[in-house]
Amino acid sequence: MKIAVIGTGYVGLVTGVSLSEIGHDVVCIDVNKEKIKKMRQGISPIYEPGLSEMMMKNSAAKRLSFTNDHRTGMQQADVIYIAVGTPEDPDGSADLSFVDEASKNIAECIDHNVIVVTKSTVPVGTNHRIKEIINSRLMGRFTVEVVSNPEFLKEGSAIYDSFHGDRIVIGAENEHAFGVIEQINQPFNIPIFKTDIKSAEMIKYASNAFLATKISFINEISNICELVGANIESVSVGMGLDQRIGSQFLKAGIGYGGSCFPKDTKALIQIAGNVEYEFELLKGVVNVNKMQQGILIRKLKECVSDISGKKIAVLGLSFKPNTDDLRESASILITEELIKQGALVMAYDPIAMENAKSILNPLVCYASSIEEAVENSEAALIITDWDEIKNVDLTVFAKMKNPLVIDGRNCFSINEMAKNKVEYRSIGRPFTP
Ligand code: NAD
Repeated sequence: MKIAVIGTGYVGLVTGVSLSEIGHDVVCIDVNKEKIKKMRQGISPIYEPGLSEMMMKNSAAKRLSFTNDHRTGMQQADVIYIAVGTPEDPDGSADLSFVDEASKNIAECIDHNVIVVTKSTVPVGTNHRIKEIINSRLMGRFTVEVVSNPEFLKEGSAIYDSFHGDRIVIGAENEHAFGVIEQINQPFNIPIFKTDIKSAEMIKYASNAFLATKISFINEISNICELVGANIESVSVGMGLDQRIGSQFLKAGIGYGGSCFPKDTKALIQIAGNVEYEFELLKGVVNVNKMQQGILIRKLKECVSDISGKKIAVLGLSFKPNTDDLRESASILITEELIKQGALVMAYDPIAMENAKSILNPLVCYASSIEEAVENSEAALIITDWDEIKNVDLTVFAKMKNPLVIDGRNCFSINEMAKNKVEYRSIGRPFTP
């Protein structure tokens, strides 16, 4: 099958590379010239385990190519995927301007019938809007079918997820469209769930909102655990053993971040609001998350009342491990607040520091190792549970001016920290000394 993918971000590039890996001819299109230049040289613009290798392999096999030119990219495509961003508008709703633009690009460039598949997360009704935008410009010259095929990959394991996902959701209007998209995906050998377009669009938002709800729920339970003297680790294990609950997404921390949960929860509140439904539960989830992101600063202030002029180490900057993505990471708020209060912030992240430099406050300094970050610092805040951070030799904290670790991800054993004479505050657990 000849496929074009519009947008080469986390979703578009992983989709294009994975589809080429299972044998399709794929052209990835992006408006960003710098990205296309890099990918043509075999350099992935994002960090994602296994992505670069698979990208190079399929480029060499001539199944995968990259272009800035929409017309060249779509010339022979039977199927065109839309994988552009749907960021948050100021009122919380999804900004569909990139999707609209991609739809116009399709209308302007195709010279044959196509199926347009939407991978981007879009509000209910958007696939019909895409069809209208294209058809209104084509004036009946070619036939366009639309298919909703929401993406469920997780950054940090995106390539793995493409080949081992729990389900592929296909929302379509007719058997022909179902058949073609099923055939494309068949080699992945992942269960396919077929439904109507609107339900497929809603499945994506409902899934993300449900996972965000689990996170905010366990975070609130962890806050109560601290107050009543229970331990969230035991509570999560005990809850997760119930198969109706399940053990995933029951890890207390500093709230969810990233490019999806924050914007998708707010977009779903708006989608409901547009039909005059107040999604009270989800509004609570969003508010709890906002509060939880401030928890490390509150804990730090309990231990060190004045941080002005003091060196504070920040370990981990990406919104989760194994990605260089800082979008909506708690590190943005936390470093900003530390600097506002006059602290000297020394940050370390195994992969995300290059990205961080263009996103975080320019006063943030960067260390080349955990050791350098914590040396002579007043406190260390842990934001991301990278393996390198979880597996650090605890004696490194002896190099601090005052061995105080405030851990937003419960990386270490309380007893081990006590043995190493580190004052240790974590989430929902008893603290030392
Ligand atoms: P991204 O911002 O990383 O990438 C979008 C890309 O599209 C950019 O490279 C941009 O230059 C390009 N682009 C924009 N308009 C274009 C156009 N008209 N023609 C060609 N290229 C264009 O976005 P992302 O994180 O990959 O997310 C894409 C969509 O997938 C969003 O709707 C998001 O909600 C959804 N999604 C993301 C994830 C994730 O983990 N990142 C997971 C599931 C779903």
